[in-house]
Amino acid sequence: MIAILLNDDSFEQDIRELLMAFFPGETFTHKEEEAGQARLCFTGRRAGERGEWFEMTLGDAHFATIRPDFSDRTQAKNEIKRSLYRLLCSLTERKLPWGSLTGIRPAKIATAKLAEGYGADFIRDYMKETYYASDGKIGLCIDVAEREREILKRVDYQKGYSLYVGIPFCPATCLYCSFTSFPIEKWKGKTHLYLEALFREMDYVAGRMKGKPLDSVYFGGGTPTSLSAEDLHAVLCRVKSVFPAQEAREFTVEAGRPDSITREKLTVLKNHGVTRISINPQTMKQETLDLIGRRHSVQEVKDTFHLAREMGFDNINMDVIVGLPGETPDDVRHTMEEIRALGPDSLTVHSLAVKRAARLNIEKERYSGFKPENTQEMIETTARCAKEMGMSPYYLYRQKNMAGNFENVGYALPGKECIYNILIMEEKQPIMGCGAGTTTKMVYPDRDRIERAENVKEVGQYIERIDEMIERKERLFR
Ligand code: SF4
Repeated sequence: MIAILLNDDSFEQDIRELLMAFFPGETFTHKEEEAGQARLCFTGRRAGERGEWFEMTLGDAHFATIRPDFSDRTQAKNEIKRSLYRLLCSLTERKLPWGSLTGIRPAKIATAKLAEGYGADFIRDYMKETYYASDGKIGLCIDVAEREREILKRVDYQKGYSLYVGIPFCPATCLYCSFTSFPIEKWKGKTHLYLEALFREMDYVAGRMKGKPLDSVYFGGGTPTSLSAEDLHAVLCRVKSVFPAQEAREFTVEAGRPDSITREKLTVLKNHGVTRISINPQTMKQETLDLIGRRHSVQEVKDTFHLAREMGFDNINMDVIVGLPGETPDDVRHTMEEIRALGPDSLTVHSLAVKRAARLNIEKERYSGFKPENTQEMIETTARCAKEMGMSPYYLYRQKNMAGNFENVGYALPGKECIYNILIMEEKQPIMGCGAGTTTKMVYPDRDRIERAENVKEVGQYIERIDEMIERKERLFR
């Protein structure tokens, strides 16, 4: 436990996130009486007659006093974080690849600077001075930002919107899962109840967005292919009948788990014009798959991939996770070699992030022998392999509690990038989310504002409260 004691909460979140980056998985307290039991105590105090300076103490021997310009919140936040970062580096004797940056969309900084007319050299200096980010991560941000800009030139995204359909079922729950996912087995014979609610929400959204171009459709979850072929057919029919889905530039279905994919389901996807699918191994090491509860074999990943190729899917993504419990750099190398042999069109490399709700966290005693570890060497292995496969990084995001404090990167062959992924990361256009656990986002670039309406995650609640979910959207549109 770490204690954070502040006399002014304005920068609490920024301070906590930076501490979390150095100490992933740690819990926090703000109570003075608990500070004695904490392994580390941070105190931050706005002081001076008009509160014009900020004093901070970290542990017993690290302190600093700074005078940020509090009238500029961003500047003040950056200065406080830089100062705390320096204290943390001296306390732990290590640096973080992303420096003091804790936001989930670091490439947006480079995108904004490019849009303002600055070049790569300026961005490099700016990110180094402002966030102490490493050369490698800054280079990655600039690469991604430049590629995104090129890709988005081809999309008239300002006028359009994207549709996200959430199917919150999976064959079984993975050890690290913190997504909206429920075992399909429990909903056997009752999925029609979910689909009825989903259709009501989709009908409402389609009516509201009538006349606007639909740029991309993305089915995620959960694992959409957990549904039966009949249910999948029904959802796709509904999407196509109420939305202008045929005009969309891209139609992705995250097939995800190989144990949910059959020839029949792939035929349904193909017949409905799905252009991009994901088949996600996460790792090609059988022991790890068994440990994380994937309930499918390495061979099934390969067989499903070959089946999809044979059926004509020419845009297949594969997801891997680096930092899985017990995995070594050799395991990552092996996974990448196996993936290279298959030859997907895009690859998404995730750094394991263990959230509070994940079984890996809840049952941490049980899995204490399998400490997740992610290293620079592992990340470099994935980046090198992507490059050797002819892929380039095109989207990037970070999460809290990531093993090794790295990032998630999407790589793709030229022309095989997922536009939806870029649009959601860059927050460039409205995203309509339908289904349990989804979020609808309205983007107002002229006012630099984003507003959201969230759906409840639990399937039973979603079905029961579907009118309320629609009402939440109605309020957002109003
Ligand atoms: S496949 Fe994804 S959504 Fe489903 S249980 Fe595993 S991590 Fe969660």
